[in-house]
Amino acid sequence: MFYFSTRDKSITAKPSEAILNGIAADGGLNIPESFDSLKFDPRELQGMTNLEISERILAEFFTDFTEEEIKDCVRNAYAGRFPNDDIAPLTAVGDDFVMELYHGPTCAFKDVALLVLPQLMTRAMKKNDIKEKILILTATSGDTGSAALNGFADVEGTEIIVFYPKTGISVVQERQMTSCKGNNVHVCAVKGNFDDAQRGVKQIFANVGDTIPGVRLSSANSINIGRLAPQIAYYFKAYKDLMAMGRITCGEAVNFVVPTGNFGDILAGYFAKKMGLPVAKLICASNENDVLTEFFTTGSYKSKRPFHVTNSPSMDILVSSNLERLICMVCGHEKTKEYMTQLAQTGEYTLTADELTAIRTEFEAGCTDSTETLRTIRGVYEAHKYLIDTHTAVAWKVCQDRKQENDNGCVNVILSTASPYKFSGSVLEALTGEAVADTGFELMDRLHDMTGVPIPAALEKMKLTEPVHNNVVDKELMNRYVTEKGSK
Ligand SMILES: *Cc1c(COP(=O)(O)O)cnc(C)c1O
Repeated sequence: MFYFSTRDKSITAKPSEAILNGIAADGGLNIPESFDSLKFDPRELQGMTNLEISERILAEFFTDFTEEEIKDCVRNAYAGRFPNDDIAPLTAVGDDFVMELYHGPTCAFKDVALLVLPQLMTRAMKKNDIKEKILILTATSGDTGSAALNGFADVEGTEIIVFYPKTGISVVQERQMTSCKGNNVHVCAVKGNFDDAQRGVKQIFANVGDTIPGVRLSSANSINIGRLAPQIAYYFKAYKDLMAMGRITCGEAVNFVVPTGNFGDILAGYFAKKMGLPVAKLICASNENDVLTEFFTTGSYKSKRPFHVTNSPSMDILVSSNLERLICMVCGHEKTKEYMTQLAQTGEYTLTADELTAIRTEFEAGCTDSTETLRTIRGVYEAHKYLIDTHTAVAWKVCQDRKQENDNGCVNVILSTASPYKFSGSVLEALTGEAVADTGFELMDRLHDMTGVPIPAALEKMKLTEPVHNNVVDKELMNRYVTEKGSK
């Protein structure tokens, strides 16, 4: 199987090359030309373990890997990293179902993919006879950095550098990074905000990239097909669980409601549907940064709008990169190139009426704001004694709104993307009605005392850890740091 650039059908890559390159040569994203050969009949699910489901799907997408290699990737990625075999437990809450994707080492759903990506990358290097070391470079405002550090820590042939902004990150999130151990991990604060850190990293990619001998620069961001594919498995897994619970019969369609930022998670759900999973609607939930809600409603993507800082920060995004893949699947390569050029030049593009209709048969969208998010957390806790984080609350709210307005009668699965303890401050604020200052780990204890919900072992353990990284650099000096650490 080959991957094609979303913007040009003549630019192709083998699966392992697509994983290594991250992005196609023309700036487009890698996409399978069709899903005709990528099939997974839900009847096969019965009797499969969760790891087997992951292996089955990755084998479809990465055809130049042997069965043994795929198995090794999955087992190395997940073995011993989750509290039990069920890496995505499905819980009935009221009339709906919540799929908890946050039981990995950093307590957010990004673990599911970022534990697999390094395994795929190192094997892809061997396969393409690349002798250099991979240097992963990332700027993070939170969840991505710690999940990437955990995935790459001590993976042979790789080195990882994560920059985070000194301002605008929670105490717990900072500690998750600064306490990450591994011979190949480097964590560094940047004097500035997230944009400064991000800009610095982009400049390094543009300039320093080829000047460190023996090093190949790469990124762990969510446009890599090696990060997208591992997320497909949990959609199938949820379907298997619903069948086992007797809640659906095989073939019955279900809805998935996904708290969305860069459009990676929900797109994996669309890939699952294309492979044959009976999905009714994929429901895209956003916070005040409601660019996607407008897009799915009107067909216009307008990125030039005020940026809102919300209490669901991992969804504070104005340009959702992975949407480009959906555009390509619906509109084709040429139109995608045209739209992406317009987006770059003017900050917006508009689908034709037919294109919008096609997309709306698959997707719906809704949004809510920070105040409603807190009210939702409290409401769900009071009604069901079930604690959710702010991102999950956005999806929960959008799901309930939609049931009021146009229920299609299908079972709803809400994706829960972070542990409530990862956002203890906001969750406490929701429960008490009072603003809460970030006093770090103490907040987790307060939330625990109030609710009795167990603190995830990974976060509990972190309380006792000391930071092992204490580097801080001026934003102008980020590239010196990279040259220094990268050539180590
Ligand atoms: C990254 C993230 C999201 C958004 O996922 P995308 O794949 O970027 O749409 C939602 N919730 C949490 C907690 C996240 O970390």
